[in-house]
Amino acid sequence: MTTTESTHEGILIEPGDPRWDEARAAWNLALDQQPAAVVAAGDVEDVVAAVAVARDRGWQIAAQSTGHNATPLGHLADTLLVKTAPINAVSVDVERQRARVGGGAIWGDVAISAAAHGLAPLAGSSADVGVVGYTLGGGLSWLGRRHGLACTNVHGVEIVTPDGVVRWADADHEPDLFWALRGGGGNFGIVTAMEIALFPLETVYSGQLFWPLERAADVLPAWRDWAAGLSTDTSTCIRLLRMPPMDEIPEPLRGGSFFAIEVAHLGSAADGAALVDPLRALGPAMDLIAEGPATRLMELHMDPPHPVPYGGGGGLLAELPDEAIGSLLDVAGAGRDSSLLSVEIRALGGAIAEPGDHPAALDAITAPYVVFCVGMAPPPLVPGVLADVDQTMASLAPWTALPSYGNFVEQVVDPATLWGAEALARLCQVAETYDPDGIMRANHPLR
Ligand SMILES: Cc1cc2nc3c(=O)[nH]c(=O)nc-3n(C[C@H](O)[C@H](O)[C@H](O)COP(=O)(O)OP(=O)(O)OC[C@H]3O[C@@H](n4cnc5c(N)ncnc54)[C@H](O)[C@@H]3O)c2cc1C
Repeated sequence: MTTTESTHEGILIEPGDPRWDEARAAWNLALDQQPAAVVAAGDVEDVVAAVAVARDRGWQIAAQSTGHNATPLGHLADTLLVKTAPINAVSVDVERQRARVGGGAIWGDVAISAAAHGLAPLAGSSADVGVVGYTLGGGLSWLGRRHGLACTNVHGVEIVTPDGVVRWADADHEPDLFWALRGGGGNFGIVTAMEIALFPLETVYSGQLFWPLERAADVLPAWRDWAAGLSTDTSTCIRLLRMPPMDEIPEPLRGGSFFAIEVAHLGSAADGAALVDPLRALGPAMDLIAEGPATRLMELHMDPPHPVPYGGGGGLLAELPDEAIGSLLDVAGAGRDSSLLSVEIRALGGAIAEPGDHPAALDAITAPYVVFCVGMAPPPLVPGVLADVDQTMASLAPWTALPSYGNFVEQVVDPATLWGAEALARLCQVAETYDPDGIMRANHPLR
């Protein structure tokens, strides 16, 4: 067993405090979160104390690890924002292939701790996304086609419910709560720890191929047909990229527009190279696919390593016929005026489409594709970015699948569109048991 210790003390920060602006910030710097107060919780006792403060003052509670999906929270008046980022310890149980992570741990720390033992978590594309928010909402990983959604690979959850009680939920304890926490989001309390599965993985064959954006019209349909034949050892996505002219972006990409294919193959380099051959035959201008350690997956998607102001949003697709590709390229392809840095389509399928061992609020995603659009901009320009997100998603509307995927939805939506009527009704029942006064405020509320 290896452990990194959490070190912070819990602290209540109120408006007027010199630390206020730093304390209330979300990862998305376009947001101006104005809660009643912030607690930077360092451990489970801090969280219990925070719940008592909120109840005492008649406030609601919003839990936040990083603020990667904070936009739909909206105004936070009369709400205590409980930041769990300081609860960031990660301990790896090598024998049982599990990690126990704090309620504010981020994927990069888990991936590094696990890799020291030849293991890997079901991390997403970005090192600084929070494990808990991502997993409560589902969790689409580069390993997902082989192992399933992150939420269906949770062994247990430590949570402080709105009555101030510390509970452990797993298949044998509080089973309804355990069901709800795996896909039902942050509606049931403040998660202080999670036990998650790890999987053996030493090396990967991964990277990107780039073409000029003009080539999207012929390479995107070829990618779709190629991806349909892949085994669950390989995951892939495409991107329409408009790189800003920023110094931190490497020279060949800086300021350019590209069509990119990303590939993550969980097998040997020789097998991976054979798989990628048909794509290489399409003459990419740049080829960055190579073998490397499993932690290489944390950089594959080129996500920003620090908070940025941005607008984003996405959803699921039931299919990707030529008409859908044409419609998408009409608004976001070469020669179009789009503020979006990236429009991506990830191929899903494999174990993502299959229920896990124990029933969960989000058992599986059967739609074959997920889309995410994002543009970075100074806060006053973010409304324009969001208009481009809407326009791009509208171009794909005839092929959209419901229920959608909450982690990639960054606006307020009808909850039935995220969970479907049946799961939503059961989630509301669980919330009625654990939060009868409706104190929790999640980014995607149930009611
Ligand atoms: C750059 C980027 C890359 C991404 N890549 C992927 C990806 O590869 N795969 C994928 O599936 N998703 C991805 N996402 C989406 C991501 O999963 C969601 O944004 C997720 O909600 C982030 O969780 P968080 O804890 O970091 O964010 P937060 O905004 O802190 O949390 C989101 C919500 O989760 C709940 N929550 C968070 N922490 C707690 C807690 N301790 N207790 C109770 N509730 C809590 C709250 O309701 C909160 O409003 C990405 C997003 C971004 C911006």
